[in-house]
Amino acid sequence: MKFAELAASLDQMEATKSRNELVRILSEVYRASVPDELQPITYLIQGRLAPFFEPVEIGLGERLLMTAIGVAYAAPKEEVAKLNRQTGDLGVTAQRLAPASHADSPSVVEVHRRLSQIAAAGGAGSQQQKLDVFTSLLRDLDSASAKHLVRITLGKMRLGIGDPTVLDALSFAKKGDRSLRPVLEGAYNRTSDLGLIARTLWEVGEPGLDALKVRAGHPLRPQLAERLPNPEAVIKKLGTVGVQPKYDGLRVQIHKAGDQVSLFSRNLESMTEMFPELVAAASDLDVDNVILDGEAIAYNPASEEYVPFQETTARRRKEGIQEFAARAPMRAFVFDVMFRDGSDLTPLPYERRFEIVQELIKSSDTLLTAPLMKTDSAEVLTRELLDNISRGLEGVVAKRLDSPYQAGARNFNWVKLKRNTSGQLTDTIDVVLLGYYGGKGKRAEFGAGALLAGVYDTDKDEFVTITKLGTGLSDEGWRAIHKRLANLEVPVKPARVNSNIVPDAWLEPEIVVEVLADEITPSPRHTAGMTGDRPGFALRFPRIVSLRAGDKKPEDATSVREIRQMFEQQQQPGRGRGR
Ligand code: ATP
Repeated sequence: MKFAELAASLDQMEATKSRNELVRILSEVYRASVPDELQPITYLIQGRLAPFFEPVEIGLGERLLMTAIGVAYAAPKEEVAKLNRQTGDLGVTAQRLAPASHADSPSVVEVHRRLSQIAAAGGAGSQQQKLDVFTSLLRDLDSASAKHLVRITLGKMRLGIGDPTVLDALSFAKKGDRSLRPVLEGAYNRTSDLGLIARTLWEVGEPGLDALKVRAGHPLRPQLAERLPNPEAVIKKLGTVGVQPKYDGLRVQIHKAGDQVSLFSRNLESMTEMFPELVAAASDLDVDNVILDGEAIAYNPASEEYVPFQETTARRRKEGIQEFAARAPMRAFVFDVMFRDGSDLTPLPYERRFEIVQELIKSSDTLLTAPLMKTDSAEVLTRELLDNISRGLEGVVAKRLDSPYQAGARNFNWVKLKRNTSGQLTDTIDVVLLGYYGGKGKRAEFGAGALLAGVYDTDKDEFVTITKLGTGLSDEGWRAIHKRLANLEVPVKPARVNSNIVPDAWLEPEIVVEVLADEITPSPRHTAGMTGDRPGFALRFPRIVSLRAGDKKPEDATSVREIRQMFEQQQQPGRGRGR
């Protein structure tokens, strides 16, 4: 496939507002592709060169791209900058300056190869090298291709092709309907690599997807926890549970594959560089291949002091890594194992996996087992919860002892119980910022008076509104948000946003904010959970608790399904929320 053909399809995708249409166009692209093209196409349409978990970055920011555009189209720098101020989109800027058509287009494979060459360039003189390759690539393209190339390079596709849309498109390309979704999703949960999945489906067919197994070095999607309103509800629903402290750190998936150790975050980004002490500890384990799941947190065993993750990162910057590491070194509280020496352990019951964890890390001082206690009593569970909170932990996670590890699933195998500062049991909600309002007075200085926020609809792969946010942030917080908002502002409503409310400015969905609210209420205005005959949901008295540290992608925000469940739980008597 020529890159120009892909660009033409991307233009069609940009023009449609309908998700079904988006899926149809993308499935046509897949149908027209040969196996070698599937990986490049799958990564490129998401503004990447490799799966999300591989830390491959093209490394050309706006400023360098402007230089390249100027050189490629013999336009003075000032002209490029001026045009860019008008268009507000560097892709469109390139498109305006590029020739409308070009005699020959490179193939998608070739474009991917040259971008990979740019990504790989490092060291002295690499910036010029990157620029040269990019400039010559731009010269080989027509205007629509140039637009999409620039957007791919910036990782800002503006198309709204989330992972569920790719999975649907693959299914449509092969079967003409969504029937392959469950098999595709299974493979996706085990490998997190859409490109690999596409290629395998084309080369080997459906059985190939089943054969894509969990393996060390490839992150699997994390098992997630459900919510229940109180300890009584947990025991009633799960019976005997294993109770563990809930650490307020950073989820970490630890992989050891031979000599190679890698760490991945909650949203499967590579974190290997961030925690050398965890890498060293994993290297020392007496096992060839292993995947562990746990929570990374700075912890001082002598004082039993846990340092919350956000504070950990802040302190690191201030104090220097060495000094900090000496006082409260990074640890990982390991609570699960998914793979060991060639065997997929995910089907084993949790109790057995936990024994394996204990065995594996028994001699490490850095990888510690998260203690597990068994109970079938709501009283004991309540005591554990209170005890953990008093020790500075977030709460507890109750786990079904006979449950397998279900990659990517949020279900009642794990249930989280937390307590917020007001003493009521409740949970925070992670919302995505979708727009903002100018604001008056002091806040106007910071450029945002109120924020429009939404949650994620997993089925439709779109963001739907749930609330406006105005309170909870300090002046410093507003300033921090404003800095990040400036880069995300877009002139029109982004493709994947479904909203009946129009803010002063739209934002590309990216920033995830943790909020606490009194209640979830039905709402005729907000689109979260809204269907033909049902109103949406809104948050009552929302306040911002924190800006997430980037460990959640917008798609990892609270889902409409979870909101509906929380709403239903609110309706139950004895829900432990003192109102
Ligand atoms: P989620 O990860 O469920 O989307 P979240 O990131 O807001 O939500 P919480 O809802 O607070 O996190 O709880 C789940 C998280 O708790 C896990 O992803 C993990 O990072 C953390 N955690 C801490 N201790 C444990 C434990 N013992 N077992 C499982 N998870 C734990």
